[in-house]
Amino acid sequence: MQKEVIMIKNGEIALKGLNRKSFEDVLVKNIKWRLKTLGKFSVTRAQSTMYIEPSEDGIDFEEAVERLQKVFGIAAFTRALVVDKDVDTIKQQAVNYMKDTLPYAKTFKVTAKRADKKFPLQSPEIQREIGGVLLQAYPHLKVDVHNPEVTVTIEIRDFGAYIHAEQIKGAGGMPVGTSGKALVMISGGIDSPVAAYMMAKRGLQLHAIHFVSPPYTSDRALQKVETLCEKVSEYAGKINFHIVPFTKIQEAIRDNCPEELFTIIMRRLMMEISMRVAEENDLKALITGESLGQVASQTIGAIATTDDVCTIPVFRPLIGMDKNEIVEISRKIDTFETSILPYEDCCTVFTPKHPKTKPDLQTVRDAQAQFDFSQLIDEAIRDTEVKVIRTLS
Ligand code: ATP
Ligand code: MG
Repeated sequence: MQKEVIMIKNGEIALKGLNRKSFEDVLVKNIKWRLKTLGKFSVTRAQSTMYIEPSEDGIDFEEAVERLQKVFGIAAFTRALVVDKDVDTIKQQAVNYMKDTLPYAKTFKVTAKRADKKFPLQSPEIQREIGGVLLQAYPHLKVDVHNPEVTVTIEIRDFGAYIHAEQIKGAGGMPVGTSGKALVMISGGIDSPVAAYMMAKRGLQLHAIHFVSPPYTSDRALQKVETLCEKVSEYAGKINFHIVPFTKIQEAIRDNCPEELFTIIMRRLMMEISMRVAEENDLKALITGESLGQVASQTIGAIATTDDVCTIPVFRPLIGMDKNEIVEISRKIDTFETSILPYEDCCTVFTPKHPKTKPDLQTVRDAQAQFDFSQLIDEAIRDTEVKVIRTLS
C-alpha cells in the first residue's frame, strides 16, 4: 500500500460553534464537487481530522491539491503518504517522501503519534528511528527539537502509517453556501471581480449580473466579463450569470434626463433591476465593487442616491481599500490581466462631461421621475439571458 491523502485538522476548518456540523457538511459537498472531474475520492471524518483520499488509481493528485487551495472554509491542510505499518517501509518511504523538502532545510525534528497501541515501537522510539535514517540520508541536517525548520510527522493509525508533508495554506474564509445567496453587479473592471471573490469567501453563493448596451458595447466586452466570472468561479463555485440588455434604458436617460445626472440615474436603474433579479432568484443582498472616493459616482452623496432605491443590503467589500490593495487581490485570483483589456463598459457610454459629485437626493429623484422607466425595466428583465458558469480549475 502506498498512496497520498490530504488531511484537514479541525482547527484548519472555519468552525462555527453550533452550526459546525452543517458547515462541515457544506464543505464536504463543495470539496467533492470540486474534485469530481479528477476521479473518485472519499472524504471521511475521524476524530478531529477530515481525510480526503483518492479511491481509484491514476488520479492527478497535484491538480487535486491545487483545486483544494481554492476551496473556501479551509485555512490549511496537509498532504500525507500512507504506507504499511512496517518499520522498514516507513523508514524507506519517509526518506523518499521528504526529498523535496529536507535537502533545502537546515534543521528538522520528527514527531510521532501512535493511535494504534499494538504497533511495536512507542512514539519516542519511532522519532529516534526515523530521525536516524533521515540524518543518514540528509547528512547536512541538524536536529532542533525547539525551533525546527521542518517537522516530519509520523502517525500510526489503524489503517496504516501516515507520513505528513509540510502544511499548505488554504483559501480561508467560509464554505460557499453557508451564508446564503447574493447578486454581484459585475463590470469588466478590476474592482467588481475582487468584490465577488471577497464575498464568496465569506460563504455567499453568487449570482452575477451584467448590463450590456449593444451596439455601444461589443460582444468582446461581454466575453471579457464572462471570462472574469469563470475565474471567480474557480473559488466561488457555480455562478448564474444574468446578462441584461440596457441600451434602451441608457438611450432614454440620455434623451430625458439632465446630462450631469446621467451616471447617477443610470446607476439607480441598474440597482432597481438588480433588486428585481435578486427578488426573483431569492438572493438576499447585492454586491458592488465600489471604493469610497475612487470616482465621482463613489462619493458618500452618490452612494446615498443609489442606496435610495435599495431595500436589501448592499455589500461593498472594497469600500475602504486602496486601488493597489485591490489590484494585489486581482493578481492573486488571476482576474487582473483580463480586467485591464481595453473594452468599453456601458458605464462609459454617454458619460457626462461634468458629473455631479454632490447630488441632491430630491433633485435626482425628480429628474428620474421626468420619465417613466417602468416599462423599459420590465422589458430588460424579460430579455435577460442567464448562463450557468462553473469552472473547476
Ligand atoms: P469596476 O472596476 O468594478 O468596474 P469601477 O471602479 O469602474 O468598478 P464604476 O464603473 O463606478 O466603478 O462601477 C461601480 C460598480 O458598479 C462596479 O464595481 C460594479 O459593481 C457595478 N457596475 C458597473 N458597471 C456595471 C455593469 N455594466 N454591469 C453590472 N454592474 C456594473
Ligand atoms: Mg468599471
